[in-house]
Amino acid sequence: MKEFYREEKNGVVTLKCRALDGIEGLRHGFSTRHGGVSRGYLAGMSFSYQKEDEATVDENFRRFCAANGLPFESLVLTHQTHTAHVETVDESWKNQGRCRRLRETDGLVTDASGLGLVCFTADCVPVLLADPVTGAVGAVHAGWRGTVGGIAGAAVEKMIALGARPENLLAAIGPSIGPCCFEVGPEVQAAFDRRFGSALPFSPSREDHALIDLWLANRLVLRQAGLQDDHIYTAEECTFCNNFDYYSHRYTNGRRGSLIAAIAGGMR
Ligand SMILES: [Zn+2]
Repeated sequence: MKEFYREEKNGVVTLKCRALDGIEGLRHGFSTRHGGVSRGYLAGMSFSYQKEDEATVDENFRRFCAANGLPFESLVLTHQTHTAHVETVDESWKNQGRCRRLRETDGLVTDASGLGLVCFTADCVPVLLADPVTGAVGAVHAGWRGTVGGIAGAAVEKMIALGARPENLLAAIGPSIGPCCFEVGPEVQAAFDRRFGSALPFSPSREDHALIDLWLANRLVLRQAGLQDDHIYTAEECTFCNNFDYYSHRYTNGRRGSLIAAIAGGMR
């Protein structure tokens, strides 16, 4: 995990990518369970408005933003539905206070300064994107469907439309279910095989199941979209193995909170 590190501020523990830290005015972070006010089975720092009262989740957002220099009043949230759909958001999203949310959207990009793009995960793969040249940023939620659908590549295309060159982009693949624990049956294996072929080898496990590496799969998507391999950084933190630090959908059979990954460019 040398490309990432943990930072604690006022009890809020955040995982960060060193390469993204190196970009002037850029703020980002991958949340952990530590530092929030959620209770019960959500205990820690959950960001799910579906599972807890608004004041609690708002307080978690406030703490996370304060610890990481992110714009609490200008966060952009989505209702994620495992699509490969990415939206470009502009200045008009500033100061909307988390009340405007995009539907059927699993990825966001922008070149507007001071907007905080957010994606929610709990085993699914969060990918943050940044262009050191234009200042454009992106946040992507890639579950297995979004990974096969190439959502990280769709986000890169939207950033190119904003003037970015793919060879300049940096990508950070955050905490998510690892190749140690993401076990799937024949139908999902077939979907990955159709998309990636021999570039993504499976590890056979019990019966007709196999372990699949979502981190490598997203790396392949990003490389196909034009990113340089050494511009792609993986936290290599498995949410299932490290369920004390992260919410894991599979470990808890769905009784879990939500993590976020967030990024904003042009911050002072
Ligand atoms: Zn694991």
